[in-house]
Amino acid sequence: MSSSTELLLIYTGGTIGMVEDAETGSLHPIDFTQLEKEIPELKKFDCNITVKSLLRAIDSSNMNIAVWKELLEIIELNYDSFDGFVIMHGSDTMAYSASALSFLLENVNKPIIFTGSQLPIGKIRTDGKENLITSIEIASAMENGRPIVPEVALYFEYSLYRGNRTTKVSAENFEAFQSPNYPLLAEAGVHIKYNRFAIRGWEDKKLITRKNIIDDVASIKIFPGLRRDVFQAIANMPNLKGLIIETFGSGNVPSDTWFAEEISRLNERGVIVLNITQCTTGSVIQSKYETGVHLEQAGVISGRDMTFEAAITKLMYLLSCEELTDAEKRNYLDKNIRGEIS
Ligand code: ASP
Repeated sequence: MSSSTELLLIYTGGTIGMVEDAETGSLHPIDFTQLEKEIPELKKFDCNITVKSLLRAIDSSNMNIAVWKELLEIIELNYDSFDGFVIMHGSDTMAYSASALSFLLENVNKPIIFTGSQLPIGKIRTDGKENLITSIEIASAMENGRPIVPEVALYFEYSLYRGNRTTKVSAENFEAFQSPNYPLLAEAGVHIKYNRFAIRGWEDKKLITRKNIIDDVASIKIFPGLRRDVFQAIANMPNLKGLIIETFGSGNVPSDTWFAEEISRLNERGVIVLNITQCTTGSVIQSKYETGVHLEQAGVISGRDMTFEAAITKLMYLLSCEELTDAEKRNYLDKNIRGEIS
């Protein structure tokens, strides 16, 4: 790392940014302009750290497309001036935001590392300090003048994951995230071991930022006993453009006639239907069982091994690509475009 490395730390909110009031014990956000006071270790880095915050820090349960837009604008405005980015984010929707940015920012060739914590940074047993410090180290790690991790990633509890492969799996453990269908990008022990084979290669391309995010999307989780009127309540939304059906096993759904009829109706209306498995690992293979074959015939797209977080944000992203035809959107949904599908 050279002393000329410039890093932008973006604070969005979440548990990581909280400190305890010494008298009342209640949690409140720390003043991020005073970050070095809370984390004196930051002074020891051989890189320049600039801190920016969202206009209003949020609990990440309040994340929405307007806040993603604000985050995208901060990155777009500062992209050329910084070598790497660390985004401090609540853990609840971090996998969604990391997935969203991996799609909405095209041609990323610098590290954009999301991190957060299970315990506030101002608590004595916090996991936030290690998460933040190692994220900074990863975001500023260079080799031969190029970043080692030129992609959107998520660092939590000694593991670096590809952002759009992550899902939050624990509300309790420090090891809160998993990347069920893709290897770790790096593991932090005494040294940070980068798994070069898993990290995307650097490309000399110009960043494109998509900010006109389309949110006319919905999802339906299939369960035994799901009624047609419940399905219709969502499927009949007038502006619906994309629907995820969360299916059983390798992409299976009930073989009731009404289900096939509703799916065909969606297809006739031009709604893109994407099939994502409820299983954590493995992939949708629609032709495997009779209960999935008719989906293929009705134009339902297999989400393969995408996480739900990647699938819903990829759908929003592709729907917002106005220059693409409907067939092209469907085609890209079916293909790996940012390392989100194996
Ligand atoms: N509710 C918090 C958030 O996601 C939890 C956390 O930060 O871990 O903002």
